[in-house]
This record gives sequence, structure tokens and C-alpha cells, in this order.
Amino acid sequence: MASTDELMAELVKRGATMEQVALLKDPTANTPDEALSLLQAGNARFFSGQPQRVFSDVNSRRAQIIAQTPFAVVLGCADSRVPIELVFDQGPGDLFSIRVAGNVVEAGTLGSIQYAIRHLKVHLVVVLGHEGCGAVAASLLTPQERAVEPLHVRFLLDAIAPALEGIASIQDRKARMREAVVLNVRRQKAILEQDDVVREAIESGRVKVVGAFYEIGSGAVDFLEG
Ligand SMILES: [Zn+2]
Repeated sequence: MASTDELMAELVKRGATMEQVALLKDPTANTPDEALSLLQAGNARFFSGQPQRVFSDVNSRRAQIIAQTPFAVVLGCADSRVPIELVFDQGPGDLFSIRVAGNVVEAGTLGSIQYAIRHLKVHLVVVLGHEGCGAVAASLLTPQERAVEPLHVRFLLDAIAPALEGIASIQDRKARMREAVVLNVRRQKAILEQDDVVREAIESGRVKVVGAFYEIGSGAVDFLEG
């Protein structure tokens, strides 16, 4: 069976207008659970070394000029080791990706998420933390130690630090870091869920917000419960 992109490319070759093509494109996921399944399947292809997403050729790119129909928003870290589309084996047009150090919810990232929920047909918002996050590690430092950082770096660290208050004293350094990253993901997710636009979309059943943890070594994304 031809993929949606192949089908669209064929239609463009046959002379369909961009408007016609845009109207023909079905969303790839119609519910939060379908969107989650697509991401889980894509990540499984990625970590098993079998990515399938064929990056767009000129025709399928042209078919995307009119409109975008991403099925999920991913708020991830700017860390170079966490390229969102690659990790989920998705291509242009599939994900509304937002990347900022520490995957924090602040005015800019929240505005982007509100936009995607209001104006696009996304069904899932993922807050994606990752193994070895430098922003989270720096947020574990004391306020005095953090004070040497430039103003806007401190802004990011200050957005993470409250999540880490009262973190359990875990001896194993790797386990402690994972705990810190998960605490930050849960806090950012909770902040998102308090936003009126996000809450309304959740209550209507159209959108789900989930937290996730990306393990650099294995390439696997763990979706967090609750
Ligand atoms: Zn990071």
C-alpha cells in the first residue's frame, strides 16, 4: 500500500493543485491513543535501527506548502543528542516540535503549544526529558552556584529548580539524575495541564498530555504513567 506521501506525490505529478492535495490528506491519527501508538511504533523502529520514514522528495514537500497536519506536539530539550523527528522516526509535517534547554514550559513554549492545540489537529502533547540533561543537572546546584550563569540561563534553571526540591537522596548518580529529569517532566506537564487552552482540550477528549523519558544509550523512549 502506498504511503500518504507517495499518494500525494503521485497526485501532484498528475496535475492536482496544492489545494486539492491538502484537502485529500487525512490526518495520520484521529485520537490521542492513535497518536501515542504512532510515536511508540516510530521510536521502536528508531532504537532497533530500522527507521522507515522516507524523508520527503520534492513532490511531497510541495504538497505540504498549503497546510500542515502534525498529529502530535513534542516539547523536548535542545540537547543535540535528542533530535525529536529522528527519535520517533517521523518526517516533515508529522510533529510540531518545540525544543528548549530543559524542556520547560514558559511563555514561548506555552504559546507554541496553545497555537498547535487551537489551530492544528494535534491529539497529543509529549513533554520529553532525557538521560544526562545538562539543564536539569545544573538546576540541582545551589542558588549560589547557579548565580554565575548568565541571566537567561538562570531563567531556565529557575524554571526547573522547584521540581527538584525534596528529591530523594539516591546514592547512584545515574539513578538520581533520572529521578531529577522525571520530576522535571512531571512538573512541566502539571504546569501545562493548568493552562486554560490545554485543559479545555484535555477535558473535551481531543488531546492528551504525556510525559516521557529518552534514554540516549538505548535510543528508547519510556512513556511515563499517570
Ligand atoms: Zn537536556
